[in-house]
This record gives sequence, C-alpha cells and structure tokens, in this order.
Amino acid sequence: MITRFAPSPTGPLHLGHAYSALLASDMARAASETFLLRIEDIDQSRARPEWEAQIFDDLHWLGLDWPEPVMRQSERLPVYRAALQELWSRGLLYPCSCRRRDILEAASAPQEGGAPVMGPDGIVYPGTCRDRPLPAEMPAEALRLNMRKALDGIDNILFQEDGSGPNGERGTIDIAPETLIGSIGDIVLARRDMGTSYHLSVVVDDAAQGISHVIRGQDLFAATAIHVLLQRILGLPRPIYHHHRLIRDDAGKRLAKRDDARAIGKYRADGASPADIREMVGLR
Ligand code: GLU
Repeated sequence: MITRFAPSPTGPLHLGHAYSALLASDMARAASETFLLRIEDIDQSRARPEWEAQIFDDLHWLGLDWPEPVMRQSERLPVYRAALQELWSRGLLYPCSCRRRDILEAASAPQEGGAPVMGPDGIVYPGTCRDRPLPAEMPAEALRLNMRKALDGIDNILFQEDGSGPNGERGTIDIAPETLIGSIGDIVLARRDMGTSYHLSVVVDDAAQGISHVIRGQDLFAATAIHVLLQRILGLPRPIYHHHRLIRDDAGKRLAKRDDARAIGKYRADGASPADIREMVGLR
C-alpha cells in the first residue's frame, strides 16, 4: 500500500486537509506501509514557498512522516509534456483559444439548450475549437481532450471506491462513456499559462509514485472518472479510490483555503494539541 497527501501550497492547511492527511497516513501505518507527501504547485501564480514551509511544519506537528525529498510538480513539466505529446500524436488533443466568456456565451446559445451544463471543471465545453484544422506540432496553447475520440473503443469507466462518493457511491463504480461526454466533456489537459493541468499531473504522478490508494475528499469524486479515463488512455495503473466525507464549518459549508479561522496554525496558536485536532475531525 502506498498512500499520499497532495496539497497545493496556495494557503494554510485547515481541518479538512488535516483529516485527509491523517487518514492517508493512518491507513498506510496500519498496514506498515508508505505514506508520501507530494507538493502540487503547478499553479506558480498562486503557490508560495511560505505556504509550503507551513504545510511541512503543520504535518510534522500532527505527527506525520514521509520519505524525503518530496515530489514537487513544478519540477516535472517535461514529464507532463511527454504525456501530452503522446496524446497529441494520437489525435486526442486540440488547441483551444476560447476565453471563459466565449465558453459561457456559446454554451448558453439557444441551440445548446440555453442553460450551460456544469461539469467538475465548470461549464461543459460546447466544442467551439474542436473541429479547427490541427497544427502539425503540438502548440504551447491550451489543449483540450477530445472526449468522444478518447472514449473510442472504451465500453465503460470502472473503478473501485473503498470510501464513499457524495451520494453514498461505493464498491465498483461503473460510468458509461455517454455520461463522460455529456457531463464532463472536452476538458483542458494543458492550460495556456501552465503547460499542464491538475488532472493530467495528478494521474501521471500517482502512477510515477506507485500510489495504490488515493485518499481524498468527496469534492474530487466527480474528477475520478476523468482520472480513470486518463489512466486507460495513457496505459497507467489504476489505484483504488477512497473518498472521504468533507469537514464542514458550523453552518455546514465545506472549508476552503480562505477559511483561516479553521487553519491548523490558528488552532496551534490557540494551544490545541495534535490529539485535539484528531478529535475535532472525528479520528481517534
Ligand atoms: N492538490 C489537490 C488539492 O489540493 C488534491 C489532489 C488530489 O488529492 O488528487 O485539492
């Protein structure tokens, strides 16, 4: 078993992160196996070394340990570009020059039904750039996955859910290709400003690190269909997924990075112990 916690250093860790990291580490420890930390810092406009240092400090304080040095996504752009190149050479990607507004307008057009469909990454792309002639070489632009082509010859997307999805989904999850086409669509695999994307990087890195169990919040359950598809088309192994409940604030809202009041650092400053944090998130 190899588990991981993969935070983005764009803000302080809060109780929800602590729960995720503790769960992943507890599961690995119970099996005398490995827990890894990976820094997901592809968004260099938002990642800060101070946040990264704070993450290390908070996690060590919580009693977690992991092998060093850790994998840092900002150092792996060539690996992601190689995976994109592979998909490009198979005709599964196309460049997209649409801005957010263009997408909203096209998706709201009467012939599209009037109301944009929302997927895990926002509006399901209406396909404006899909049929433009492709340049000979893979350009340094935003690149989208041609979902219909990517699913060609794939009967279903299957994965094992050992935790539970937001609607109690567990066991073998079986998603029909039409569902991915209709409710996820042509997602961006390389952002113009980053040269990669969360979905592509996470899948490439989980495989590179031999992650056997992906433990993360239910907010990422819908993205798992994308990840399993990418594993299929890139020939990568498929881990077992364990989505966990989200830690909410008193009003029932999911915690976000900006909820500084729930930051681990704040509880530490107020004198809480690591055992207190475990109790607050419902772990013993
Ligand atoms: N880096 C992602 C985040 O901070 C988590 C990725 C994952 O667990 O798959 O939300």
